Amino acid sequence: MIPEYVDFHAHLDLYPDLQEAIRSCDKQKTATLAVTTTPLAFKRNHELASSSKFVRVGVGLHPQLVEERYGEIELFEKLLPQTRYVGEVGLDAGPRFYRSLDLQKQVFERVLRLCASSKDKVLSVHSVRATKAVLDMVEKHLPQDKGTVVLHWFTGSVAEVRRAVALGCYFSVNEQMLSSPNGLKIVTAIPTDRILTETDGPFVLRKEAPIPAGDVRRAISLMANTLAIGELQARHVVRRNLKTLLQD
Ligand code: MN
Repeated sequence: MIPEYVDFHAHLDLYPDLQEAIRSCDKQKTATLAVTTTPLAFKRNHELASSSKFVRVGVGLHPQLVEERYGEIELFEKLLPQTRYVGEVGLDAGPRFYRSLDLQKQVFERVLRLCASSKDKVLSVHSVRATKAVLDMVEKHLPQDKGTVVLHWFTGSVAEVRRAVALGCYFSVNEQMLSSPNGLKIVTAIPTDRILTETDGPFVLRKEAPIPAGDVRRAISLMANTLAIGELQARHVVRRNLKTLLQD
């Protein structure tokens, strides 16, 4: 089934009804990466998405949860062969999570090494206040020919965008990024063949309500404006990028 849209970072299991969220992605024909925040959450997501045409599930261990859940890395390793997708993983050096940064780095290194030995994984990576450390670790532990990193809601500098591109990374961008001056500076620095869309639902809000599952239409429209292309063309670009990314 050929998708119409791409949502490469969504927390479908954090919507009130996971089944309904999956159905909504299928109805819109949105190729969706349902990320999970702990390995324990993978099973239910995987089961409910097993009959979905458009939803794929990643096994993840969110950096903000590493302090309490780092022990689940063993389960992460066990589940990894069940999916090509990994996320949400990465580093968060923001004030609330800074104290677990060393532990986060240990976990992320293990994730990257495990992915490198499986060779074809695609990772959705969080890098809040830690863009340099994330890129350093990707460079060191996940060579380009051993896996693909998609940087989700990237907030680094334009120079870091270039560095990430040289490391083979893609970027998933959401409507909130595309509506902020700093986000737009990043988006315009991303080469057109490395850009994907995401909702980051339900965390991205529209008038204080969570963005509907799988709805990247506003992201597409803002992206089309930014790149000075039509919306159909923007959709085509994103679909083509996903196809290339999954073929590599
Ligand atoms: Mn997220």
